[in-house]
Amino acid sequence: MLSDIWQDFLKIVKEEVGSRVVETWLKAVSLEQWDIDCKTIYVKAPNLFVKEWIASKYTALFQLHLSRLLNTSEVKVIFLCQTEEKSEKKQSLTTIIPAQKSVEIDQPQFQVAKKSYHYQYGKLNPSYRFDTFVVGPNNSLSYAAAYAVTEASGTLYNPLYIYGGSGLGKTHLLHAIGNALQEREEKLVVLYQTADRFVNEFINSIRFNKYHQFQQKYRDLDVLLIDDIQFLSGKEQTQEAFFHIFNAFYDAHKQIVFSSDIFPRQIEGLAERLRSRLEWGLVTDIHKPPLETKIAILKKKAAIHGETLNDEIAEYVAHKADSNVRELEGSLIRILAYASLTKQPLSLELAQKVLAGQQAKKEEISIDFNKITHLVCKRYSYRLSDLRSTSRAKELSLVRQIAMYLMKKMTDKSLREIGIFLGRKDHSTVIHAFEKIEQTVKKDALFGSTLKALEEDILR
Ligand code: ADP
Ligand code: MG
Repeated sequence: MLSDIWQDFLKIVKEEVGSRVVETWLKAVSLEQWDIDCKTIYVKAPNLFVKEWIASKYTALFQLHLSRLLNTSEVKVIFLCQTEEKSEKKQSLTTIIPAQKSVEIDQPQFQVAKKSYHYQYGKLNPSYRFDTFVVGPNNSLSYAAAYAVTEASGTLYNPLYIYGGSGLGKTHLLHAIGNALQEREEKLVVLYQTADRFVNEFINSIRFNKYHQFQQKYRDLDVLLIDDIQFLSGKEQTQEAFFHIFNAFYDAHKQIVFSSDIFPRQIEGLAERLRSRLEWGLVTDIHKPPLETKIAILKKKAAIHGETLNDEIAEYVAHKADSNVRELEGSLIRILAYASLTKQPLSLELAQKVLAGQQAKKEEISIDFNKITHLVCKRYSYRLSDLRSTSRAKELSLVRQIAMYLMKKMTDKSLREIGIFLGRKDHSTVIHAFEKIEQTVKKDALFGSTLKALEEDILR
């Protein structure tokens, strides 16, 4: 399905160019159509500005990854713009990118994209500071704890563990801690590292016989900020190595800060002794901001860009971008960029124009786990608690697999989140369910149409 390809594409480019670009630009567009005969993919942008921006900067990315995902060696990408008339489509919007043999050009393109947009790992981001972070009821505890850590590093809350959904400011706080400590004491050796980079670093150190250097590097640090620690899940050897680093830090009263999308106990595939250590200090959470905080964040971000946002615009944007702060910021940046490039003053009309394409996508996303499981249960006369149970009764197992399949297909949630929602099932169980149902649909037309009817019910 095209929307699956699009989700996969977003995941891949997020790795490559960072989530900021994805939220700001790529999520503003969607895959409109894949014309398999002409090997042409149509990408729809909400307005001309976004279209041109993306076409000029990210065309190579689209070609590179979409040709892989679509299993074709050469793909044409045509960017369309929502505000233009359909009949004009083909003539006026001929941003036709010549087909290229992807294999030969993959490497250099990949490098260029990486160099210019990729955030440099390990370095602190100077703009993520305490004074650029807006405090609201959703994050005040985490903020206070993070700030306290900078005043009593290693002795007060060690480790500090901050968890919450994506795009809510965890990474920002980690960098803020690092920046504040670094400013206070220049000689302090602070390392910001994502857990998946840590895993790679560890694996490479083994592969290239550099484990000693790896150990030494971590031994020499004073402060360690580990982002998205849930990625250590299932990486036994890396956990082992990390366990020793943790102990050395802890014993020496050196500060460690973790972020994660879930509570320590919910991280599957983590050695018990490591899991318990994550809770040794203070565990705090971050939630989605309420409207007032969203407005305050927008105004602050605008001010950082030297602009003033009035209440009317701020409120409009806050209502439109509902999922997280990253999305909120992405919308704002698009509006500011549009105003500045078209030399127009900021106004509600302008904001509405820039964010025009956003509503439809919102509705798609609003299909949630509850709705899916509710309708699946209703159809087959089960309760949610049955789906969450460990019972493997034949029919129940199948219904559970159907629920997993639809949750994967119809939302952009991760396998892990699906597993957790259904009674902490392992993500491999969800993959298995997805594959099994997919195969059954192919073999059994009747089953396929039942499932289709169920899907339509959910979409209603
Ligand atoms: P996470 O790590 O939780 O996924 P990030 O820290 O990357 O989220 O935050 C996403 C974006 O939102 C960043 O640009 C960050 O500066 C911004 N942001 C999140 N929360 C706040 C806040 N309370 N005040 C200001 N900016 C915020
Ligand atoms: Mg983060």
